[in-house]
Amino acid sequence: MERTLTIIKPDSMEASNAGNILALLEKEGFEIQALKRMRLSEAQAQRFYEVHRERPFYDSLVAYMTSGPIIAAALAREDAVPQLRKVMGATDPASADEGTIRALYGSSIERNAIHGSDSPENAQKELHFFFSRAELIAAE
Ligand code: UDP
Ligand code: MG
Repeated sequence: MERTLTIIKPDSMEASNAGNILALLEKEGFEIQALKRMRLSEAQAQRFYEVHRERPFYDSLVAYMTSGPIIAAALAREDAVPQLRKVMGATDPASADEGTIRALYGSSIERNAIHGSDSPENAQKELHFFFSRAELIAAE
């Protein structure tokens, strides 16, 4: 079974959509194997989105991701990485398919409700960003 990392972003938490999003993910066959609510520090958000450091939206993205609490979760199912990307929808909620999490709950290309790892390699890195080795082993 493959694992991926999701983040329920600050806009979803602010709008009390976390429960709805987790319920939708469970309905789509994802098992929630580890779960953590926290507020990212600026340094943590900068590190998590390091790959986007040179992009024009980076500073605003970091400010948004530190603006309130988030929930990070380890999700497992068959083909978890591509399946989460599918149920999330496109980065811009305006062009996300109907019924996807971003179409339902996102409000802009930045405030788009949810994060999902984009490859199995990045999923491993991102899972270890939020969860200890022991937590990930215990979750199996
Ligand atoms: N983002 C943004 N403006 C953009 C593109 C992305 O604010 O033009 C934000 C958005 O919150 C997105 C995150 O940066 O989810 C990471 O961007 P990426 O291209 O990796 O999109 P994702 O993988 O989340 O769909
Ligand atoms: Mg991405």
